[in-house]
Amino acid sequence: MKCPTCSKTNQKVSNKTVRHMLKAKCKSKIGEKDYYLCMNPDCEVAYYNSESVFDKSALKKSLWYKKDANPKYACYCRKITQEEVTKTVLETGLTEAGPIMLHLRGNVKSNCKINNPTGHCCHSVFNEMIAKALATKAANAERKSK
Ligand SMILES: [Zn+2]
Repeated sequence: MKCPTCSKTNQKVSNKTVRHMLKAKCKSKIGEKDYYLCMNPDCEVAYYNSESVFDKSALKKSLWYKKDANPKYACYCRKITQEEVTKTVLETGLTEAGPIMLHLRGNVKSNCKINNPTGHCCHSVFNEMIAKALATKAANAERKSK
C-alpha cells in the first residue's frame, strides 16, 4: 500500500510495534490492522493503513531517517544515537556494531519488535552509520597527512 501523502510504497509493520511507538492520546485510533511505515525522509507521515494515518508528531520517538529527526537513533533498544556511533568510531578503534553497543551501554537485552519503529533489528542501519563514520575518519586522516 502506498503512502497517502507521498505515494511511495513501503514496508509493513505489525500493529504491536505501532502500538508501542504511538503517544498515549493517539492509541484509541489504532484499530487492529497492521500498518505501513513511510520511509521517505521528506514525508510527514509515519504509519498508515486503510483506516488510519499517523504522522511523525504522533510518535513517542523520532524516526531516525526523517529529515529533521532529533535525536537520530542508531539503536532504539539501547538509545544509541548516530552522534555517539560516530564519536565512538572516531575515538576508539571499534568498527563493529556489537562491540560499539557494548562499549556505549554495556549488556542490554534488545527487544526490536517493540523498540524499533520498523519492528526489526537495527543492525543494517547501525552498520551504515559505522560506515559513514569510518569514511569521515579516513577523510580526516588524509587531511592530516597532507
Ligand atoms: Zn510518505
